[in-house]
Amino acid sequence: MKLDVNALRYLSKDDFRVLTAVEMGMRNHEIVPAELVDRIAGLKHGGTYKVLRNLLKNKLVHHDATKYDGYRLTYLGYDFLAIKTLVNRGVFASVGRQIGVGKESDIFEVATEDGTVLAMKLHRLGRTSFRAVKSKRDYLQHRRSFNWLYLSRLAALKEFAFMKALGDHGFPVPTAVDCNRHCVIMSLVQGYPLVQVKELQNPDDVFDTILGLVVRLAEHGLIHCDFNEFNIMIDDEEKITMIDFPQMVSVSHRNAQMFFDRDIECIYKFFRKRFHLSSEKYVEQDGSDIDDDENGRPSFQSVQKSAGSLDKELAASGFTRKEQVEMDKYIHEKAEEESSDDDSTSDRDNSEDGDDVAGKINSLKIAEQDSAGAPDCTIEARDSNEPETFAEENETGTSHHGDNNLINPSSLSNVDAKEPLESGGHDDSDDDSSDDTDGEDDALAKQLNKQRKRAIAAVHGRRRPLSSRNAYKYKGKGTMNSKIERQACKCKSRQFAIL
Ligand code: ADP
Ligand code: MG
Repeated sequence: MKLDVNALRYLSKDDFRVLTAVEMGMRNHEIVPAELVDRIAGLKHGGTYKVLRNLLKNKLVHHDATKYDGYRLTYLGYDFLAIKTLVNRGVFASVGRQIGVGKESDIFEVATEDGTVLAMKLHRLGRTSFRAVKSKRDYLQHRRSFNWLYLSRLAALKEFAFMKALGDHGFPVPTAVDCNRHCVIMSLVQGYPLVQVKELQNPDDVFDTILGLVVRLAEHGLIHCDFNEFNIMIDDEEKITMIDFPQMVSVSHRNAQMFFDRDIECIYKFFRKRFHLSSEKYVEQDGSDIDDDENGRPSFQSVQKSAGSLDKELAASGFTRKEQVEMDKYIHEKAEEESSDDDSTSDRDNSEDGDDVAGKINSLKIAEQDSAGAPDCTIEARDSNEPETFAEENETGTSHHGDNNLINPSSLSNVDAKEPLESGGHDDSDDDSSDDTDGEDDALAKQLNKQRKRAIAAVHGRRRPLSSRNAYKYKGKGTMNSKIERQACKCKSRQFAIL
């Protein structure tokens, strides 16, 4: 999915305030009623409706009038909220090119103030799995709601927690830098996915290293579950880095043996095909560190497992057993459904058809929602804090950790406002709201204007003072912070958009 962050620089405080109001509303609504957005945002004189029009124009929200007049965040809107938070936190300062695309993620380069390039993974669960989620409604009902914001945030949270724990235990993984909402920031791996490598100097060594990793993971109580040539990076020195952790499970998982064997099989299959490793290679491993079964393969039974040893650390780093169970259910039930459909792994699919992911975006139609209560990478007692009403929603907005201040409208004034959004449109974005036609946009713009006028009239006891018409007149482009402008120009040559 294309990510045009230029508009981010032109977002005003009010734009963020309304965008955040839509995010808050999505905790309890699939489509957030326009009046609720207005009440949460609390802008005077019907300003919300004018801002919504700009957000729509920039495809940060999607309008839905099927049942009532309402809005939901688009992926781009959610991306902007996460990126803005991380930029404000000083984690990175600019966004560069896209370096990876998965079925349920997009990966970009980002750069810090001092020029260090990092990788940003934006999780997009639900992008292709509407059917799977829908089919799990029974299970999901007890959670009251389940949507792509929640799923994507959970995936990011899990990825971050596992990456950190694995890194701390000396596994070759990217360094986990930070995480917010559905976005994980990690070190950039200098290398290529193994699938792109046609030749190796030491295929036997690489093969052994990779198999050894699967075994060592199991010794630490974990199975990768998507361990294949797409999720193994290799550099010029043939050093291995493993990536992509949202689907990892404990060795105590009921299907652990199957997942372990599948990971091993993937590696065997790939090396056999790509590097023509002979079958003797398998036998050669007898007597090595790895306990093998009679075929010479590492066997799940013979691995010295210390299941649970990483669980504690993962819980401490934010990803608790409960979240793990929920995530496992979603990912593995989906995987089962996918494999029964087309008998292929998710990453393998990515390589074939990953280019046109935008076309596959589906909106989730889940009856009730309870998404990103705590946008940051620390799971709080989200469920118990779920606001049931608008009033509660406002109250609980302050109860979350750290950057969750963002969801408290009163704290939105702290958001570092730049220029207003109006001039920063990018109408060619292939976002999931691209189904809006121009005609619909016009009609909607008129409707928004009407609503705005009505809201203004309501505020002023149905009298609309002339002055209010200009109350939300945006400042012109001329006030653009010249430092930002200069930086933007500079980084154009580096293909990074300074934020
Ligand atoms: P998905 O979950 O969608 O499969 P991955 O985490 O496997 O996403 O990433 C997809 C692709 O993005 C990888 O195959 C790799 O090319 C690239 N990528 C992911 N993380 C990094 C990283 N830290 N550094 C460099 N490239 C990365
Ligand atoms: Mg992957």
